[in-house]
Parts: sequence; C-alpha cells; structure tokens
Amino acid sequence: MFSVAEIFMENIEKKISRLIRPEIRALKAYHVPDASGLVKLDAMENPYSWPEDVRREWMEALQGVALNRYPDPDARRLRERLRTALDVPVGMELILGNGSDELIQTILMAVSNPNAVVLAPTPTFVMYEMIATFTGMKFVGVPLQPDFSLDMPAMLKAIETHKPAVIFLAYPNNPTGNLFSREDVARVIEASPGLVVLDEAYHAFAGRSFMDRLGKHDNLLVMRTLSKQGLAGLRLGILAGPAPWLAEFNKVRLPYNIGSLTQASAEFALTHLALLDEQARQIRRDREPLFQALTRLRGVRAWPSQTNFILFRVEDREADQVFEGLRTRGVLIKNLNSSGGMLKGCLRVTVGTPSENDAFLKALEATL
Ligand code: PMP
Repeated sequence: MFSVAEIFMENIEKKISRLIRPEIRALKAYHVPDASGLVKLDAMENPYSWPEDVRREWMEALQGVALNRYPDPDARRLRERLRTALDVPVGMELILGNGSDELIQTILMAVSNPNAVVLAPTPTFVMYEMIATFTGMKFVGVPLQPDFSLDMPAMLKAIETHKPAVIFLAYPNNPTGNLFSREDVARVIEASPGLVVLDEAYHAFAGRSFMDRLGKHDNLLVMRTLSKQGLAGLRLGILAGPAPWLAEFNKVRLPYNIGSLTQASAEFALTHLALLDEQARQIRRDREPLFQALTRLRGVRAWPSQTNFILFRVEDREADQVFEGLRTRGVLIKNLNSSGGMLKGCLRVTVGTPSENDAFLKALEATL
C-alpha cells in the first residue's frame, strides 16, 4: 500500500520527467553554503560596511522612495550616474540587470537558438555554462594554458570551427584571478563573428578595462557589477555597448527588473564613489600580504591575483579535507576541487579584513 503522500510524490516525479527538459534535470542548482557563524571568505564580497553617518544619509534617501509605485522601468537617473561613474564612452548605451548574472541570461535569451554556441576559456565563471544550458545553447570551453593565459591557437581554431554567437571573457578571470593579455583579447574580438562580452566584474581591483574600446569594435560589450564594491546585496549589474545591441536585449529584459530600493540605493552609493574606491584600494593592499603568507606555506601554491580573491592549490593534502578543516575552525572559503582539471586540489579565498585574513591563515596553518 502506498500512502497518499507517496503517490503524490510519484506523480510529480512522472510529470517532471515528462515536462522538464533533460538538460535542466541534469543540472545542479547553484550551491550557496550556509555561512552562519563563520568567517565568510567564500563569495568575493567586500567585508566593509559604510560609516554610521553615510548609513544614516542612505536611510534618509530611501525614505523618499514611493514603494506603492512601480520603479522607473528604465532607471534613467541611475543610468546617467553610472554613465559618468563608469566612464562610458559618449554615444554608448547602458542596460541594467538584477546582478550581472541576469545580464548574462538576457544576452543569451536574445541570441539563443539550438545551433548557437557560447564559448569561453575554461576554467571560468560557471554561470556562463549554466545559463547557456538553461537557454538551450551549446557551451564550448577552451582550456587555458597552465599559466592561465589564453591558449590563442586553440581559441582562434575554436572560433573558426564553432562561430560562437557569444564569447565571454572574464577580465580578470574568476577563479584564476589573472588578467588576460590585452593583445590576446583584442585578437579574440577581431576574430569573432559574434558578440564578445568582456565581463569586468573585478574591475575595481584590476584597474584595466576595455570600456574605452567600446564603439571601436561593433561586436564588443562590457559588463560590470556593483557586487564586488560593497553592494552585493543590491544586485546591480551593468552592460555597456552600442545602442542597437542593447535595444534588442532590452526587449528580453523584464520590465521593472531593477527595484526602486536598488535604484535609490545605487544612486546614493554613486554619490560616495570615493568611499567605494578607498575600500577597493584597501582590499588591494591587503591582498599582497595574504598572497605572500600563502606562498610561504609549505605544500601551498598560490597564484598572483588582480581581483579580491586568491586561488591556491594544496599539494600535500586533500583539498576537500583542508576545506573541511577550515570550516571546522570557523572559516568558510570556496572549494574548487570537484571542478577537476586545472582546478584539482584548488581552493579560493576572498580577501577579507586584515583580521579575517589572519583568522584564515591561522586556521589554514593548523589544518595543513
Ligand atoms: N562575473 C564574474 C566573473 C563573477 O565572478 C561574478 C560573481 N561571482 C559575476 C559575474 C556575477 O556577479 P553579480 O553579483 O553581478 O551577479
């Protein structure tokens, strides 16, 4: 005898296998571990909040928001402020997303067709492949060289073979932390028949950009986010590029995708750019001693980073055990070991406050 609850569940299972696409069933949802009570160095967040007076000013700005009304669907004022803050070249347009994740999805929904290919060097940000899968596209990953630079002969060959609709280049790259050579990136843009999206999520820590190349290549788009600059909770991603491309993406973007509180908060934050920049500079300064300390540890190989995180490999111990050892000692970082390939044995730590970085290093020494 089956219980009513068992029959209910079985019926759902049958319907899922009939209705949900096989490639979706095969996916695993993006996993975000519970960080309660832990030093949180897993997600490239900025560890700093704002001083009390700035927080108070922010609260006052929010009081003026009419929550009973829909937000400005085009976020006009915010886009104007962003255009200045990000040095978007004259004549180029901007659209906004609920995080840059949403912009990746918007772009791929607009170009999706069963034969279209999304290409990226790998390892890279996992959402390019996941979103390509959701949107029914094929993902082609071209392995990076062992030093994490672009394998240019392989990239050019893959571009010729697959004629990708979109290439994503994270500049600097996550999780490897390096910037690709500017000449290599320019060659990829020139060789590509489709769009090339320069994902500059970590721009605040690298200082290099292709923003000034917008308008020089008809297939180039530049993406940014406020997430790594102390505003991860807002969810605001920015895509800059030529107006005709963005007009097409704007048709796929859901109306009102950027809420009023996000618009008002981001507008406010942009009046405190010096504060955001100083926090990024502090993180960049603290990255150096953290990197040096990691390279001094026996059995640890760390890679130089142009971002707010450091990739490292543990050579004498199982990465999974090191990850768990850190967690037991109260520190959460990211375990990349299961990604395999070049990331076997690798872990990624976000640069936190000096005391968080010390706590991480102590926990790591105790674990190794
Ligand atoms: N691009 C890259 C390269 C990233 O590493 C991340 C976040 N980990 C994102 C985009 C997504 O950022 P957002 O918070 O704006 O969705």
